[in-house]
Amino acid sequence: MKYYAPKGLYDIKPEDMPYWHAVEREVRSTMPLYGYEEIRTPIMEKTEVFARGVGEETDVVSKEMYTFEDKGGRSMTLRPENTASVVRAYLEHKFYGKEELSKWYYLGPMFRYESPQKGRSRQFHQYGAEAIGSSDPSLDAEMISLSTDLLRSLGLEEVGLTLNSIGCPEDRNNYVNQLVEYLEPEKDRLCNDCRARLDTNPLRILDCKEESCQKVVENGPEITDYLCSECQDHFDTVKGYLNQLGLDYQLDPKLVRGLDYYTKTVFEVFSSDLGAQDALVGGGRYDGLVELFGGDPTPAVGFAGGIERLVLLLEELERVEMKKNGLDIYLATLDEETKQTGMELVQELRNGGIRAEIDYLDKSLQGQLGYADRYGAEITAILGPRELTEGEITLRDMETGDQTTVSLDEFRSEITNRLDSES
Ligand code: AMP
Repeated sequence: MKYYAPKGLYDIKPEDMPYWHAVEREVRSTMPLYGYEEIRTPIMEKTEVFARGVGEETDVVSKEMYTFEDKGGRSMTLRPENTASVVRAYLEHKFYGKEELSKWYYLGPMFRYESPQKGRSRQFHQYGAEAIGSSDPSLDAEMISLSTDLLRSLGLEEVGLTLNSIGCPEDRNNYVNQLVEYLEPEKDRLCNDCRARLDTNPLRILDCKEESCQKVVENGPEITDYLCSECQDHFDTVKGYLNQLGLDYQLDPKLVRGLDYYTKTVFEVFSSDLGAQDALVGGGRYDGLVELFGGDPTPAVGFAGGIERLVLLLEELERVEMKKNGLDIYLATLDEETKQTGMELVQELRNGGIRAEIDYLDKSLQGQLGYADRYGAEITAILGPRELTEGEITLRDMETGDQTTVSLDEFRSEITNRLDSES
């Protein structure tokens, strides 16, 4: 074997599709219930969209982007996430002048140059929602409830929700100063990356995965002690709505999330069944992002969920009914002439919404019947030269071997009747 998919990129094989379809179906049916319309942005943007939107010092931008120069000498990047692109599209098409609140959802591939492991790949798929135009805490609560509702509709009951508020930029500045003051004397216990982060982006130290760093951070200051009264009120109101909706959550004052654009509410939904990569969904408010892109200050909130992890979980829990793409009828033919009529009949059946197949492998009649059996055809029809001359076709019951003949004129209605009576 000479060619393999690039490291960290995977084929989604036909046998996995029922799970993917189940997730995609759920996303497409649940999002509109909450008033979200689909938006599709390109899978690549000018690099500055992410550099600016996500933040130069984040891991995603500094280490994980697939960036290249196109033939026109522009620096392009495969999207590592979708929020920055959605905000770019919001401003580009001046949605702020057209609607008071834009509620959008998306589904699609994202790319990050990360170390591949179970539940973490370099091309992965996210579904997500963004609501741009309101700072109301009820929208934060709605976002959270939408993200957990979707998982619950897929049959996942055992999901946890962690919640935090990282306040406004002023709160964060105050907090970061305290954090740096606390971490400076502990510098030697931090990993190399975090030592550098102390100068560039100290907040990121909170979500470092190294145990040594986590230990250091454990006894450090907590951002929730630095919230101004407006951010505290906002956070309290979000919690109030969640209580009202009966949604359980755990407060985690160390949850800051890996992207720079978040303000106030941040949350994650996880499943303990997933092991190390346990986050299914991450989201939060990003009140400063539209302004950062040159728009008027416009509050917004959103989330993104990973489909691969969801599919892994659904496969483990066997929550999706595995139904092969069934076959209604297999039409066996015996020579070139019957094949020609057979092609026409199969086409007619397909036009009528019936899943029909014919022989593409030059098999004998026996071989064709075996194929129909293996692919679970509900009905098998045989069109031989004798039948063709008589204007008839034979229908064979694959279980009993009983055969009946119907005229070609009645063939389609007979098939439809049989399929209807079986379903
Ligand atoms: P983020 O955009 O980093 O907040 O991630 C949101 C969700 O996307 C995570 O909770 C994961 O479910 C999923 N995700 C992020 N990165 C990856 C990856 N490299 N591979 C698979 N899923 C991912």
